[in-house]
Amino acid sequence: MASPDQFPNVSFADVNAAAAAAQEPGGGTAVFSGDGAAAARLRLARTGAEQAVEIDLAVAQIFKLGRTEWLCVSGETEAKSGVEEKLFSRAIKVVLRTEAESKAFSLAFQRWKQRMISGKDGEPLENGSITVCKSKFDTKIEASSAQMYFHYYGQLLHQQNMLQDFVRTGTYYAAVMENRSDFEGRIVVDVGAGSGILSLFAAQAGAKHVYAVEASEMVEHAQRLISGNPSLGQRITIIKGKVEDVELPVKADILISEPMGTLLVNERMLESYVIARDRFLAPGGKMFPTTGRIHMAPFSDEYLYVEMANKALFWQQHNFFGVDLTPLHGSAFDGYFSQPVVDAFDPRLLVSPPTYHPLDFTSLKEEDLYEIDIPLSFVSSVGTRVHGLACWFDVLFDGSTVQRWLTTAPGSPTTHWYQLRCVLSQPLYVMAGQEITGRLHLVAHSAQSYTIYLTMSAKMWGVGAEQGGILQTSTAKLELKEPYYRLSQPQPYMPQDQQQQPLSSLQAQVSGQQMQDGLSPGITVEQERDSAAFTR
Ligand code: SAH
Repeated sequence: MASPDQFPNVSFADVNAAAAAAQEPGGGTAVFSGDGAAAARLRLARTGAEQAVEIDLAVAQIFKLGRTEWLCVSGETEAKSGVEEKLFSRAIKVVLRTEAESKAFSLAFQRWKQRMISGKDGEPLENGSITVCKSKFDTKIEASSAQMYFHYYGQLLHQQNMLQDFVRTGTYYAAVMENRSDFEGRIVVDVGAGSGILSLFAAQAGAKHVYAVEASEMVEHAQRLISGNPSLGQRITIIKGKVEDVELPVKADILISEPMGTLLVNERMLESYVIARDRFLAPGGKMFPTTGRIHMAPFSDEYLYVEMANKALFWQQHNFFGVDLTPLHGSAFDGYFSQPVVDAFDPRLLVSPPTYHPLDFTSLKEEDLYEIDIPLSFVSSVGTRVHGLACWFDVLFDGSTVQRWLTTAPGSPTTHWYQLRCVLSQPLYVMAGQEITGRLHLVAHSAQSYTIYLTMSAKMWGVGAEQGGILQTSTAKLELKEPYYRLSQPQPYMPQDQQQQPLSSLQAQVSGQQMQDGLSPGITVEQERDSAAFTR
C-alpha cells in the first residue's frame, strides 16, 4: 500500500451556500490515501473538529478555480431500469497555501485516482473480485469528448485535410527520407496512424516492420490503403486501439507521430505520444518529432481588436423587437474575448522579438503537460497599443543525418494550424524599449484541451511615470477548445498609427528557424472554418 499524501494547512468549504456560510474557511488537512484497488479517497478534516469530509476518488473530479484554489466535485449516478436517473453531487472548494502546493495537490489527486482505477499498486486481488480496468486515457478524458474526437478522425475528409497540408506532409516525408539510416531495418511504431501515411513513409525508407496504432474507425481505410500498396504494406501491421491500451510484440527503435494540435498542445495527444514512448520505445530509441517549441510574442492589431469588440455591439440594443438586450452585453463581450483567434497574420504585427518554451518529447513526463506555466518577458520595439499575445509552434526531427524543422510561424508558408492569438479586452500602452512582462499559464482539462490564463503587464508611462513603478496589467482567460476561426478573407497588413516597425529584423527572427527550403510551393489547405472541432 502506498503511503498517504498529506497537505497540512488547507482551507475548504462546501460550495452549497448554506453550508458555506456556516463554515469558516480555516486550517485543515487534506489526505489522499487508499488501501487497495478500489478505495482511494481524499479526506478533508478541519483542525480540532471531529467531523471530516471523505471523497471517493472513483467518482470525483477537480477543476481549477484560481492559482491555489480547486473545486472538488464528487457525484454518483444511480441508474435503475424503469427508474429515472438520479444524480447526487457535492462540490467542495479547497484552497492551498501556495502555487507549488496547489500543483502538488492536483498531481496527487490525479495519481491517486489513477492508482485506484488501474489498481496499479501491486496489491493482489482477492479471489472473485472484479476490477474495472480503465485505461490511462479514459481516466483523464471525458467519454463524450473522446467519442467526438475519434469520430472526427474516423472521417476521410479530415485525414485528407491534413494530407493536403503540403508543408506538414512534405516536411514529414523529407525528414523520413533524408534520415533513411534511422528507419532502414528498424522496428517503427506509428503513434496515431490515421490514414497510415507516416507508416507508408517509414516503409519507403526501408523499415523492417511498422506497427501502426490508431484508435478511430480510420483503421479500415488505412488497411485498404496499405493493402493497395503491397510492396510497402507487407511490412506494416495496423492495430486498432489507443496507444495507452494496445500491446505490441516487440519494442520499437523509432516512434513516428503527428501529435500536434493548435498551440502544439491542443487535443492533449502529446501525452499519448509520451505514454507510447514509455510503453513501446526501446532504450536509446528515437522519436520523430524529437522536440517542440511554443513561440510567443506580443502583437498590435487594431483591426482585430475592433472586430472582436464590435461583435458584442449587437447586445447594446435597447429595443430589439421591444426587448432591451443590454443586460447581456458584458457577458457577450467577455465571451468573444475568451476565444483564441486562429488565422494567419502578418509577422509585422509583432511588437517584439519572440521567445519560446521548449518541450523535449524524449524526456518529458506525461504529467508535465497537465499544467504548463510560461513566464513572459519582452522588450517592445515600437510605441504602440499591445492587443495580446501571438503564439505558434515548431517541431524538430532530430535525425542522424539531417535535422529538419516543421514550423507554423507567421510569415512562413501557411499550415492548417495557422497561428493563434490571445486577445486582451484591455490593451496595454507601451513605448519603444519598454519591457512587457507576464505569464502564460495553460491548464489541461478533460475535454482534450486547455484553459489559457494570460497575464500581460507594462509599466505606466506618461506624467509621473518615473516616480512610480505602477503597472498596467491586463488578464484574459481563454478556452483553447473554442477558438474563433478568422479565415474568411485574406488579412492584408495595414500599418497602424504609431507603428514604425524595424520590420526586417523582426521577420528574420521569426523565420530564422525555418529550414524548409524547396519544400513549400503553395499549400492547398482547406479552411476548416465551421466544422473544425480540432485544428491540427
Ligand atoms: N499520422 C496521421 C494522422 C495524424 S492525426 C498523419 O500524419 O496524417 C492524429 C491521429 O491520431 C488521429 O487519426 C487520431 O485518431 C489518432 N489518435 C489520437 N490519439 C490517439 C491515441 N491515444 N491512440 C491511438 N490513436 C490516437
